[in-house]
Formats: sequence, structure tokens, C-alpha cells
Amino acid sequence: MVSFDARAVLARLAALRSADAPTHGGHVLSYVYDSGVAEIDELAAEAMRLVQPVNGLDPTTFTSVAVMEREVIGFARELLHGGDDVVGSVTSGGTESCLLAVKTAREAWRAAGGEGRARLLAPVTVHAAFQKAAEYFDLALDLVPVDPETGVIDPDRLLDRLGPDVALVVVSAPSYPFGTLDPVEVVAAACEEAGVALHVDGCIGGWILPFWRGADGDALPLWDFRVPGVTSISADLHKFGYAPKGASVLLQRGRDRQRLQYFATTGWPGYPVVNPTLLGSKSAAALAASWAITQALGARGLAELGESCLRSTAAIADLIGDIEGLRVLGTPTGPLLAVTSDDSVSADRRVDPHHWADRARLRGWHLQLQPGLTQEDGTHLPHTTHLTITPVTGSRLDELEAALRASADEVRGVPPVDPSGLLGALPPGLADGPLDSDTAAAVLQAVGIGGGGDGRLPDEQAPLLALIEALPRPLTERLLVELLARIVEPV
Ligand SMILES: *Cc1c(COP(=O)(O)O)cnc(C)c1O
Repeated sequence: MVSFDARAVLARLAALRSADAPTHGGHVLSYVYDSGVAEIDELAAEAMRLVQPVNGLDPTTFTSVAVMEREVIGFARELLHGGDDVVGSVTSGGTESCLLAVKTAREAWRAAGGEGRARLLAPVTVHAAFQKAAEYFDLALDLVPVDPETGVIDPDRLLDRLGPDVALVVVSAPSYPFGTLDPVEVVAAACEEAGVALHVDGCIGGWILPFWRGADGDALPLWDFRVPGVTSISADLHKFGYAPKGASVLLQRGRDRQRLQYFATTGWPGYPVVNPTLLGSKSAAALAASWAITQALGARGLAELGESCLRSTAAIADLIGDIEGLRVLGTPTGPLLAVTSDDSVSADRRVDPHHWADRARLRGWHLQLQPGLTQEDGTHLPHTTHLTITPVTGSRLDELEAALRASADEVRGVPPVDPSGLLGALPPGLADGPLDSDTAAAVLQAVGIGGGGDGRLPDEQAPLLALIEALPRPLTERLLVELLARIVEPV
């Protein structure tokens, strides 16, 4: 009989967890989606416990998996107005849903006679998961610039690039960086006419936009399966479905098309393999939690939680508008917004959004810093700070407002970080060739970000972001890989 000290192990885990950013209470305005309702978390935990030993690989052996998945897909399909021809899968998250949407589109394009390398066409604001998908599945990535003032895509600029090699167009509902609801109807009409598949990335919006209204209180423009020409939609349960991480839905229009998502083989001496998703053996925990939450809340419960997000988002957007030196970028749709510096006031009254976020962090509020980006046409998207608003935010609005105002007051007039000092600390010739791990680690040390042991970044992230913006992309990407890889190396 094995014996062990479970208490000591769990005590250590609890201690480690206490060093994490707080996952409840609304102090982290990205990554975590807190309903603010403890009963929802308890329900999810109990559901996960019930299926803990199950292997989601085989829904014919573990039939509970089939029932839960079918019912979650049915719920999502109704919410997104799909007809009988809309079918789907529960995946492990937004990235997997996006990867599978791209894989399916590539197979469909090939089946229709496409030859050579397929192209994926999208606004530059499309989630990085599609860059990953293009890399994994070898599609050419064609990213169309958006208006730097508003983050909005001019549909004609996108549609001008349609061609026989385009296997998939992707638009967002809404985009993660700026919360922009892309013009789904216009793009869908053109895609349908051209016979090109269109994915709507509703990873962050899919479970909340059905309950959202425009700034004027009007219904949103259509973006779901009511729009002919939309071939697939992704919607993450582990965002505004309030489920623990590890669950998303990918819905596809057309059974024949969706079957191309699958991998199947009987060509080995083991069991016949039939996988709708990327993984083989997989947990059913997040599926069970998602199923339990959707069963318990229904559309009514989701609508109520969405309403709270709508009110808080409007309040925060008003607040940002009222803080001298900051502005919300564009007109976001949904519970997220990007804050940038208001260049209409003089430089000594401007607030750099990254300094602002660093100050807010010192007050216990974690906002997400987003780097600026020079687009293909030479225009520059400003650097911003991202806030995702969740139902729990509503109970903390006064506290949040005070922190955001005080943080802005502290850094008003402070110019953005000038990276030249940091760049001066780098050895010359770095960008000329591939870096080995040891050199990359030394560079990280030289600029003061790496080797912390606890995996924590410095409190001030503005300098790190300035460096990300200033260095050539391949170099930055290599350095960040090193940073993350070193964090999990055994010491
Ligand atoms: C979160 C998100 C994704 C990727 O989802 P993960 O769950 O983080 O893998 C894709 N698209 C959008 C718009 C998102 O917000």
C-alpha cells in the first residue's frame, strides 16, 4: 500500500497559489472571467470531480461525454442562431477551435481543387491563434491593416484581396486587441459570392454578444449564423461561459464540411482512431463544468450576467473618457476595451497607457499591456492597455475608478519609455543571425528581465513592452521564447 502525506503536498500548492495573481474578485482584467457567483464555481468543481477519471477520447465507452457535448453544442447553436445544418465540437479552448477552423477550411479548399499553398485573409487585429494556425497548417498569412484611429477594417481593403488561393477569411466578433466588431455581413456576402469560407472568431464574444446592445441601445449588426456566408464560429466557454479553462465550442455550417475537421485512421495495429479535435486522450472536466453551467444558467442566467458586464463596461468607458490624457480606442462592442493616450491634449497632459497600467498594478489592479504595431502599409497602431470587464467588476467599480484615476494622475505628462537606453545595453550585431539559448539568456539578464527564479516579471512592464516594440520581431520573439522556456527549467 502506498502511503503519502497529501496534506503537506496540498499545503505547498496552496502556498504557491497564494503567490498567483488573484483569480477572483475582479482585480485581474484579462485572463480570468469571474462571474462573481460562488455557486457557479462550486457547481463547476463538483461536475469536474464527477468526471475526473473519464477519458473524453471515446464517447462510445464514456457515453456521458457524448450527451454533455451534444447538449452544449445544441445550446451554443441555438444561441448563435444556427439551423439543423450547423454541427460542432467542444474543444480545449479558443486556440484549438481556431486551429481546427483553419484546418477544416484548408481541407475544404483542397477538396474543391485548390493547389499549392492556401492563403488565410484577415484584419491585422485577428487573434494570434490564426497566426499560429497558419504556421502549423502552412497557409500564407495575409493581414490587412486597420484604421489606426479606430481599429476598424475597411471591408473593401480586405475584399480586394480575395482570390482563388484564399481558403479562409476570418473576422472577429469582437477582436481581442480593440474590441472591434468586424463588418460580418458585408464580408460574408462577398465571401459567399466568391465561394470562400468565412470564420467568425467569437471566442471572446460568442457567449456574451447575444445579450449585448450598441452604444445607442440598439441591437448589434448581425454577426452569427443568421448571416448567410458564415461557415464557422468559435465561442469560448472558458471566457464568458464562465467555465474553468479548457473549453470552447467550434460550430460549422454543413455536415460534409465539418467532417473534414476529423482525423481518422485504421491503418495501425491499435484501436481505430477517430478524433474530432487535436488531442487524443483528453479530460472531460472542462466539458462537464461547461455543461453544468449552461444547464444551470440557461440563456436567462447568461443574459443577466451579460447585463452586468454591459453596465460596467459603459461606466468604465465613461470614466476613461473623463480622465484627462487617456481615451478609449475606437468604439468597442462587448466587455473589453483598449485604452490609449489622448493625443488631442498637449504632451504634458497625456497619460501613457503603459505607465498607467504599471501604476495600477502597484495598487493591485492587473491591466494588460499591448504593444504598438507598425502595419504593412506603414501606419502605426498605438500601444494600448487592455481591460476585459466581467460580471464581478460591477461590485468593485468605485474601487477600480479610484485606482484608475489616481494612477493616471501619477503619470500624466510622463513620456512613454524611450527604449534607447535598454537597446544600448544589448551586445551589437544581435539581430543579424539566430540566437543560441545561452546568448538569449544573457541578453535577458543584461536588460534586467530574466532569471528571477519565481517566474515573475519586473513590476514595471512598460520598459519590457518598449523593448518589444523597438527590437526586430524575430529577435523579440526569440527572447520571449527564452524567457518562458527558462521559467520551467528545473533548477
Ligand atoms: C481568447 C481568444 C482566442 C484564443 O483563445 P484561447 O482560449 O486563449 O486559446 C481567440 N480569439 C479571440 C478573439 C480571443 O479573445
